[in-house]
Amino acid sequence: MNPKWNGQFSCFDLVARNLEKAGQSLRTTIRVREIEIGGNDFVVMAGPCAVESEEQLLTTAEAVAGAGATILRGGAYKPRSSPYAFQGLGVEGLKLLRKAREQTGLAIVTEVMSEEDVEVIAEYADIMQVGTRSMENFALLEALGGCGRPVLLKRGMTATLEELLRSAQVIAMAGNPEIILCERGIRTFETATRNTLDISAVPVLKTVSHLPVIVDPSHAAGVRSLVPVLARAAAVVGSDGLLVEVHPVPEKALSDGNQSLTFQEFRDMMEDLGPYLEIQQKARQLRPQLVATGGAD
Ligand code: PEP
Ligand code: MN
Repeated sequence: MNPKWNGQFSCFDLVARNLEKAGQSLRTTIRVREIEIGGNDFVVMAGPCAVESEEQLLTTAEAVAGAGATILRGGAYKPRSSPYAFQGLGVEGLKLLRKAREQTGLAIVTEVMSEEDVEVIAEYADIMQVGTRSMENFALLEALGGCGRPVLLKRGMTATLEELLRSAQVIAMAGNPEIILCERGIRTFETATRNTLDISAVPVLKTVSHLPVIVDPSHAAGVRSLVPVLARAAAVVGSDGLLVEVHPVPEKALSDGNQSLTFQEFRDMMEDLGPYLEIQQKARQLRPQLVATGGAD
């Protein structure tokens, strides 16, 4: 690990583990309804990339809940790379998410792209997702400081882990310490996958920060066939959970169909995770230790 990471995390004091103040074991756990993120449970958040219709969302919510997910994902405000692509249902989508929560008991995570939408999204969502493209939208991060909801902060696709922690620090400084970090793949020279899953991000972040860390294998892979194996890798290295895209008919999805699992594939993935979660307990014990070295960073 970069020796600098073992130095003084003065610029990340709210999000870094601190040997003197907190001891080795302090972790932030975030409670969302009955769910604890960052504790002993492996929390799976699953659902469609975008909320498309009532039927699509409610059938997906039932399916993922039945397979063991406890949080429903689904974008109502979508950051699309093309202005011609489906942009999301906006408030209508938020209302459908609320209906899905009422029907299934699943908590809701959904993306917020603009500080102007923070208030309305916080009315409906249990967790506010900041997407890869918004990781350095500092006006948004500051607005999330007072939103009263935990924030799922995705790593920018070209951001270093230090930059990710800097953005987390901005949210914490603005008054919101409830932050979940998410590794979702970064851009590298490799083109075989949509992004490159930086699996070492998990043990590094868990070592230097007290915040929960989850992995999004869907946006890293870009193809559904790779999602289950990346999910297993995430479990083994000590991730606190997953964010996974699932769709009733992926070929018809309005966004990210190629990487979305069918209901059956999601059920299989969840069943197969069992032994890997046992290994995870060992991964937690073997986690690299934070060593105080003094020295400025
Ligand atoms: C998403 O979760 O659908 C999404 C847009 O993710 P990312 O910001 O990681 O691309
Ligand atoms: Mn997506």
